[in-house]
Amino acid sequence: MSSEPIERRVSYISDRLRGSICPICGKRYYKPRYYCPKCGRKSVGKMEETSYLYSKGVLEVCTLIDDPTNKFKTLSPYIYGIVRIPEADIRIPARLTDHIQNTPFKPEEYEGREVVFRFRRRYAAEPHEIVPTTSLTFTFADEYYPYIPYEPKEPKEPSEKPGIVGYALYTSRFRIREGGMERSVPFLDEDSITAAVEAGKLALIQAALHGWKIKKIYVGTESNPYAVKPIASKVAQVLDLGENLGDGVRGVDAIDTEFACKAATSMFKDAVA
Ligand SMILES: [Zn+2]
Repeated sequence: MSSEPIERRVSYISDRLRGSICPICGKRYYKPRYYCPKCGRKSVGKMEETSYLYSKGVLEVCTLIDDPTNKFKTLSPYIYGIVRIPEADIRIPARLTDHIQNTPFKPEEYEGREVVFRFRRRYAAEPHEIVPTTSLTFTFADEYYPYIPYEPKEPKEPSEKPGIVGYALYTSRFRIREGGMERSVPFLDEDSITAAVEAGKLALIQAALHGWKIKKIYVGTESNPYAVKPIASKVAQVLDLGENLGDGVRGVDAIDTEFACKAATSMFKDAVA
């Protein structure tokens, strides 16, 4: 793996697809910028933060990578391409996931199609390493989990009573069948962190809630990739949950739980307490 500070920086930017908007000319950028190259000095320190995590893109060009460098070998062969986000007029490089190339590669079968960003592992990590993650992966918008726009709204009226305002689920795309049983199996770049982020992202979309309205997050799993480090904090970071306390710090109660098949559901009771 690259050095830990580099790894954290890469994750910080690509997990949420962070970018900047120039308040003077309106130009958007992928990756945060301190100033706008078009507007120069007068934009210094005025750039606004943005995120393309919930955007829909179009795959402009792509190629098949069949002999990648070492750490990407487990994913090989995979399709890599340039995705354009039309409303922001930006282009970003990304990898097609949930895809096994069994037929001869023809780029024209993929180019021009709409895509949705997915949160996945960037490459295979050793057990002692930080799990490298990214949202620079995509699936096609007309397959499996289709694109749903994220339009957060303010609640109409306050309520003291607990209740469910939205829910969502995420299951991996691939299946194994044995007898009458069907099980979902994660793709090579999935784990409980990536599944929790995908489910949480869909839940925010369904509930039409801003992340800063969320005060607690519980992640239940029987297959935590870490021995000690919590994954709920990672989910909170990627989905930008919790109250903004300034200087990039968010206030949110993030907890992992572990109990076969009821790790998360038993927390429903706790959540209303
Ligand atoms: Zn500008």
